[in-house]
Amino acid sequence: MTATTGPVAAHRSSPDDVVAELGTDTATGLTAEQVRDLRERYGPNTLPRHRGRGLFRRWLDQFTNPLVIVLIAASAVTIAIGHYVDAGVIAAVVLLNAIVGFVQENKARQALDAISDLVRMDCHVLRDGRRMVVPSEELVPGDMVLLDAGDRVPADARVVAAHDLKCDESALTGESRPVRKSSDVVAGDVPLAERTNMVFSGTMVTHGTGTAVVVATGEATEIGMVRGLVASATAPLTPLTRKLALFSKQLTAVIMAIAAVTFAVGMLRGSAATDMFIAAVALAVGAIPEGLPAAVTVVLAIGVVRMARRHAIVRHLPAVETLGSTTVICSDKTGTITANAMTVAEVVAGGEFYRVSGTGFAPDGTVNHAERPIHPERHPALMACLETGVLCNDAELRRGDDGWQPVGDPTEVALLTVAAKAGLNFTDLRRQQRRIDVLPFESSRRMMATLHEQQGGTVTGHVKGALEQVLRMCRDALDADGAVVPLDASAVQAAAHGLATSGLRVLAFARYQPPEDVRRIDEAELPGTLTLLGLVAMADLPREGVGDAVRACLDAGVRVTMITGDHAETARAVAAKVGLGAATGPVVVTGAELAATSGADFDHVAASADVFARVSPEQKLRLVESLQRAGHVVAMTGDGVNDAPALRRADIGVAMGDIGTEVARDAADMVLTDDNFSSIEAAVEEGRSVFDNLRKFIAWTLPTNIGEGLVIVAAVLLGTALPILPVQILWINLTTAGFLGLTLAFEPKEAGIMRRTPRPPSKPLLTGGLIRRILLVSVVLVVGAFGVFELQLAAGMAEPVARTAAINVFVFAEMAFLISCRSFDRMLPGTRNRWLFAGIATMTALQLAMTYWSVMHLLFHTAPLDVSGWLMVLAVAAATYVLVEVDKAIWRRGDRRAEYTTG
Ligand code: ATP
Repeated sequence: MTATTGPVAAHRSSPDDVVAELGTDTATGLTAEQVRDLRERYGPNTLPRHRGRGLFRRWLDQFTNPLVIVLIAASAVTIAIGHYVDAGVIAAVVLLNAIVGFVQENKARQALDAISDLVRMDCHVLRDGRRMVVPSEELVPGDMVLLDAGDRVPADARVVAAHDLKCDESALTGESRPVRKSSDVVAGDVPLAERTNMVFSGTMVTHGTGTAVVVATGEATEIGMVRGLVASATAPLTPLTRKLALFSKQLTAVIMAIAAVTFAVGMLRGSAATDMFIAAVALAVGAIPEGLPAAVTVVLAIGVVRMARRHAIVRHLPAVETLGSTTVICSDKTGTITANAMTVAEVVAGGEFYRVSGTGFAPDGTVNHAERPIHPERHPALMACLETGVLCNDAELRRGDDGWQPVGDPTEVALLTVAAKAGLNFTDLRRQQRRIDVLPFESSRRMMATLHEQQGGTVTGHVKGALEQVLRMCRDALDADGAVVPLDASAVQAAAHGLATSGLRVLAFARYQPPEDVRRIDEAELPGTLTLLGLVAMADLPREGVGDAVRACLDAGVRVTMITGDHAETARAVAAKVGLGAATGPVVVTGAELAATSGADFDHVAASADVFARVSPEQKLRLVESLQRAGHVVAMTGDGVNDAPALRRADIGVAMGDIGTEVARDAADMVLTDDNFSSIEAAVEEGRSVFDNLRKFIAWTLPTNIGEGLVIVAAVLLGTALPILPVQILWINLTTAGFLGLTLAFEPKEAGIMRRTPRPPSKPLLTGGLIRRILLVSVVLVVGAFGVFELQLAAGMAEPVARTAAINVFVFAEMAFLISCRSFDRMLPGTRNRWLFAGIATMTALQLAMTYWSVMHLLFHTAPLDVSGWLMVLAVAAATYVLVEVDKAIWRRGDRRAEYTTG
């Protein structure tokens, strides 16, 4: 993490000077040896992890919650009235509570931090004359980085070549409009925003391509220096935790008021002030669900960890809540539904069809004509088409020690593979024909063009892209013998259609001769100048398991649509293979058709189609908006720079960890480490499970608070002794929340969780059925605890004995309720949740200690129980279990199951 420096004013020097000063080379980059030395000298290109609030601040935060303040006050008053042991116990509890909260919070934070490390950031560099992909932390000053639209700039660098390069520097300068970059010298000591020949770490490339030489890495970068100054404190709050925190606060206020009234009523009835004070404290301590917000954060964090295990990295905690409510998943095709393992299956050139054998990117196979391997010299149109595929191409395919190593876009790698299968030496070809200009591929453009100069000085342009795009620019075509002939567009379209209907991805290839002296590509000048060379059709099979995942989504009431830049027929075939539009075959709408609709028509189409093909990023955004208008919760995938607005707009923006751009990842709520559609389905499932567990935890915890509160109020109103004392309530709340309640966070998913309909996010956490159950259990606890206390007294037991019985009623009834709580509507037999067993066993041991160990007697005013006491305790626990199960049965019979499951 050492700071590094490069030329201080690189923007004022010419690119050549900067490159020379750094001892590197524009054409070949650094050597491996230089990189090693520089890395030793400058360290990794990383920033120290952003710590947020300091440890000490977070420790202090533990003491700012209202309950703790009440407790500290109570402890002070307890000392004043001479109850030193109680005061000590209360103080110890406050401390213990703070420690537990602090440890839990840190653990949750660490888990989240570790997950954010899972998304690597790679960058393309030139080293030893070769283009390679390296993790951005391995960059050193002097590295030549190759920038492409969608990349995050990995270090501060001086631009040496730029093609239409624009960067979004808002992260650094606050300027939201992209800044155009060039290699021109900028004179004077201008501010960052005006250093148009520099690119800065952490900013985004929004447009074009370029090469830049790294001048500063790690903390020496501009962003590194700024970050040192700003230490923001963003706690992982979600709408839910915020709502619960507010709920807790309001509840605290209400309970304090009730406590005050109880105190006053007691005094009026002539009770002693100290007794009433103790009762009021007991009420406050018991009824305030102080642990709720923290427990919710822990449950969410556990959910995040589970999702990460299933390849879905949640970047924003609220996404966990939203995921479970998803009603539509709009997924890309290439790489998400399909494997993006492109293999050229057929080539059509000069009207002839060629089949290609062998799969994968290793060039093991042949290009065949009439079932026989071709002789390249007899198929000039084919070879011209494959040559264009090699030249108009940024990918690399090298033979390394462990076999063939592809670098770059799989579509382009496949073109190198097929060229090699046809006997073409692509490395030589690229050396002979130097690239002098490029029009990079962009989804919105759907094509790419390059300009090459041969040794004799001849300049040729090569174009590849979507058929419609290329065909409309073609003037003529090559026939099988390589002669230029008039273009038969309908024959070409028919051939492409035939290939696409079997699910193949079709690309068209063309070339042109620019006018003399033209050494730049002018997109506007291309139409009417190209000669069509042929079509290449690639197979890209659906990923394994996607069909099942689609089915699981449909069962779960989640609609799945495919949104792709690819051809309608290719998309239709792939969609059918994975089971979209199962009954009648997928309904396919193209971008052109979408463009022709508006208003209600657009909404109608958006609501009914299974596949949107040849869709532009702007249309993706319109689709999200239309679906949201119809009340949908939309999860949308995207990988390109232009997808960022749609990703931000979607309720769950999903980006890819492997392919896809940093810009898209930055805009997303969730990143898939394996780019697989099935992982979205898994995340939805986990989201539902987290939400379920949260509701279970809340449903489990509230009756204890209500029960304890009511017991105290009842005792004061009836003028009887308190069945439980403040320290005893503290004990119950502190131990059961951790040992019992939190084990619900580890509950496995309920069977059938993906057969429910999605839960509207606006629906409150606690709906009618659940509230009824919470009240039912609260009443059982009050009646049970109060009843057992009085029965024990009536049987001649001393108050400490009767209180010990009442405490055990609470704890054992909570255990029984916990076992029931694992499902809202079904009686669950066994469990795979080992934490649950461990929790119940620990809690039982603690209660035995509390009941029989003399030290605990001293601290908590307890006493040993006899058999009658235990029988009463167990009877209430059993009654709790039975009553809740009966309640479930009534619910099922009333077929109001939906209220629990989806409500
Ligand atoms: P999806 O949107 O599902 O990821 P896609 O990869 O087909 O599918 P885009 O990347 O937007 O979507 O590509 C749109 C079209 O542009 C493709 O169907 C193809 O015809 C063409 N195309 C794709 N990659 C290249 C490339 N590297 N060079 C030229 N044209 C390309």
